[in-house]
Amino acid sequence: MLAVRFIVSYTLRKNNSPQRSLNSRPRFQGRRNYVNPGLRIDINRFVNRAQSVTSEDLYSPIHQFSDFAIDPILKRNIEYKKYISPTPIQDQVIPHVLDGKDVIGIANTGTGKTAAFLIPLMNTLVRNKSDKVLIMVPTRELAQQIQSELFSFNNNLYIKSAVCIGGANIRAQMRDLRNNPSFVIGTPGRLKDLIERKVLYLGNFKTVVLDEADRMLDMGFIHDVKEILSLMPTPRQTLLFSATLSPKIEQLTKQFQTNPVKVSVKTRETLEHVAQDIVHVAHQGQKIDVLHNLLTQPDFEKVLIFGETKHGVQELSNALNVRGHKSTAIHGNKNQNARQKALQQFKRNEIRILVATDVAARGLDIPHVSHVINFDIPASYDDYVHRIGRTGRAGNPGKALTFVR
Ligand code: AMP
Repeated sequence: MLAVRFIVSYTLRKNNSPQRSLNSRPRFQGRRNYVNPGLRIDINRFVNRAQSVTSEDLYSPIHQFSDFAIDPILKRNIEYKKYISPTPIQDQVIPHVLDGKDVIGIANTGTGKTAAFLIPLMNTLVRNKSDKVLIMVPTRELAQQIQSELFSFNNNLYIKSAVCIGGANIRAQMRDLRNNPSFVIGTPGRLKDLIERKVLYLGNFKTVVLDEADRMLDMGFIHDVKEILSLMPTPRQTLLFSATLSPKIEQLTKQFQTNPVKVSVKTRETLEHVAQDIVHVAHQGQKIDVLHNLLTQPDFEKVLIFGETKHGVQELSNALNVRGHKSTAIHGNKNQNARQKALQQFKRNEIRILVATDVAARGLDIPHVSHVINFDIPASYDDYVHRIGRTGRAGNPGKALTFVR
């Protein structure tokens, strides 16, 4: 199934071999009695033969972009971006957002949900210049990615936006806010800080988007999110996007939304065109040798490697560089400029290997990642799905390998 199998056949577990117990603890310095929750995931769930996308899987949209009642300049910008027809989430969400309704969008990343809210909301702002939109997201990179998508639709529209995220210069953000932007895109902690400093006033924000809401709650932002929402005026339009609809998310929607329309385009739990397999290593120390062998294979063109800790991720990237595999790392110990630089280098194919913590697992759109490698097992199956979702995007084939001991 995988081209690498014959090279590292001694390390790869055959699909039909008996399942191995995963009770051994990972090497981890610092916390005693630490047990990686990922060890409880059945390793068979990391193995999946890729299926080709058949015509039955192809979605026929009800609308074309030309059907939507949106500004002609915005339509032209969509065309210029070469979006031919709406993705399922866009097809089903855009009409409701244009109608001013609250929406719950259940969709994985990579489904085109950014444009599902940006296109209709930009249209609202073209029609009503004094309106304002707040977009709350869990990670800094996602905020920046949303703003760059906004820029790509903004030719001749001149809609102003500001990104307010932690780890970046707050004074520059305060200056941006004084410039009266129509879109404010930020992470909850920094937004709260700016509200407390009285440079961000939410009284005239009539629309709010919670993107990757499940991730925001997982990251402990629930109190900040609730506090910020409670400062917003009513009536308002509240759009919530999440990969899952957990009880906590349902509670949030009950508290802050009014008669929301629910749209779900979630299909299978993993992307079916991602070939998944495990790489069996005898001990922790062998992992780097096995990884080195894999990275020398020609089909490992653009590789995203996930590790568990910030420190471990940096160490692994350093070790790969020493072995001649030019790589960069992205994790919470790096400042935002360094994180953004690493991500851009990887996106632009200036560097072939990116080593990351789960900070890079969600929301990010990185084209043409040939392989995702889980150097460390993820903490939950949900995290696994998000990690491997970075490859095999937009119908392209992808491969995911998980190291297990
Ligand atoms: P997202 O889920 O918003 O991160 O989008 C995933 C990727 O799909 C991005 O690269 C988008 O530019 C792309 N995309 C979104 N909508 C469309 C569309 N209607 N047609 C083609 N590509 C799209």
